[in-house]
Amino acid sequence: MSHPVLSRTTPTDQNQWQALADQLTFEGRAYVNGAYQWAGSGETFPSVSPIDGRQLVQVASCDQADADQAVAVARAAFDSGSWSQLAPSERKAILIRFAALIETHGDELALLETLDMGKPIGHARAVDVPATARAIRWTAEAIDKVYGELAATPHNQIGMISREPMGVVAAIVPWNFPMIMASWKIAPALATGNSVILKPSEKSPLTAIRLAELASEAGVPAGVFNVLPGFGHTVGKALALHMDVDCLVFTGSTNVAKQLMIYAGQSNMKRVWLEAGGKSPNIVFADAPDLEKAAAEAAGAIAFNQGEVCTAGSRLLVEESIRSEFIGLICEALKAWRPGHPLDPATTCGAIVDQAQLDRIIEYIAIGQSEGATLVEGGKRVLEESGGLFIEPTVFAGVNNQMRIASEEIFGPVLSVIGFRTAEEAIAIANDSIYGLAAAVWSSNINTAHKVAKALRAGSVWINHYDGGDMTAPFGGFKQSGNGRDKSLHAFDKYTELKATWLALD
Ligand code: NAD
Repeated sequence: MSHPVLSRTTPTDQNQWQALADQLTFEGRAYVNGAYQWAGSGETFPSVSPIDGRQLVQVASCDQADADQAVAVARAAFDSGSWSQLAPSERKAILIRFAALIETHGDELALLETLDMGKPIGHARAVDVPATARAIRWTAEAIDKVYGELAATPHNQIGMISREPMGVVAAIVPWNFPMIMASWKIAPALATGNSVILKPSEKSPLTAIRLAELASEAGVPAGVFNVLPGFGHTVGKALALHMDVDCLVFTGSTNVAKQLMIYAGQSNMKRVWLEAGGKSPNIVFADAPDLEKAAAEAAGAIAFNQGEVCTAGSRLLVEESIRSEFIGLICEALKAWRPGHPLDPATTCGAIVDQAQLDRIIEYIAIGQSEGATLVEGGKRVLEESGGLFIEPTVFAGVNNQMRIASEEIFGPVLSVIGFRTAEEAIAIANDSIYGLAAAVWSSNINTAHKVAKALRAGSVWINHYDGGDMTAPFGGFKQSGNGRDKSLHAFDKYTELKATWLALD
């Protein structure tokens, strides 16, 4: 079992983080019915750190039989009412304890995340851990403040409109923000009274496994929150096709999202809610209030989390009159995003999650060059001697929106710069994508900013900044970026059925 590392003070340098990492033992078992267990088959797969290629632990490779068992356990827990029938205020209290435990174990969780998938420890500690705790606490605090409705009936009837939990929810999540993505699903699913089976990505299972234990410690009853590590085509598919899973929530690629809709149609028509890919346009007009700030945020928009961000500002649309000046500013701003050791708190750009993802990024850089785009910054693998997987943030100029580097999601730090002359042209290019997750517009002209923001087909639009948001606002995509919304009170829609109960008055 993993040792809870409760350091008295959060480490402040790489050596201290490394010392803490050396004390960690890693847990790779599934968590079902309140206890750790190996996959029924005994199969495992290695969790390998992209920082140095070190094998961290063997992880349970769950399959169909494990999915069947976990679904039966989750169903029994749901039917028992041990969680589903608690007063919302009681679920709230337990989930708030869960959030507090995440904060208490913040150093350990941040380390697990960094070692498992390569992100900088500074970000894991300052962003991922607090955002995960906040998602759970915010949602818990809301749950005893949402009311049902009464229908506008004739005087001799009462129509009561209530929300009921779905039952068994399967949540399948990706590797780029393993804890945060999980929290956006499990917080509203648990708060509304469902039982949950979380399937983390095979590339980043460690924090999910630890979260299940912390939830139990907080008081979530056995069987209510289960974690099944394993591969998408085995345990993920088994959950998606399961006849007794009521609701399937997903964050990941558009291709897998489409497949999950097929699985739901082939099985029990379970509710399917999808957060999928993106190719977000970041539109900079010549009258942007502060071009240096715009360039700094455009650099962060492509380099934060190594570009492995669904909302990455991977298409930078720049008004022609400032195009070369702005490319210079971006290249300058990217100096703040040099790859470094992920356990160094000063590092801003960490390791790429695995060899397959690194190969994919390198292949797209070659594709950009063969398509005729101009490589103006980066493009090379670096720090290879460390045994880790690092790549320089990369900028292509002279891109047109039809090139593959501009139309396909790369999921790495590769920026495509595209010129435009008018607002109409910028809107047309921005919307010419199968995706519609996010977009940004930079202009001092309030009319331009609002006209463009309104015309953009995206679930989140930022004016004069990039990547804003918090738990109070919904998050999700238009078009092939998904359906439904995470975060905010709107998230409850995904995890509840609406029931109308009619009473006829004599
Ligand atoms: P992925 O689609 O490859 O995998 C996501 C999850 O689905 C993993 O847990 C995987 O094991 C599972 N899976 C794969 N095949 C499956 C199958 N046939 N049946 C059931 N489950 C299956 O995505 P990824 O590479 O882990 O993550 C990157 C993708 O996630 C990018 O496209 C990114 O844009 C997207 N993403 C979207 C958001 C958002 O909120 N819209 C947030 C983060 C990441």
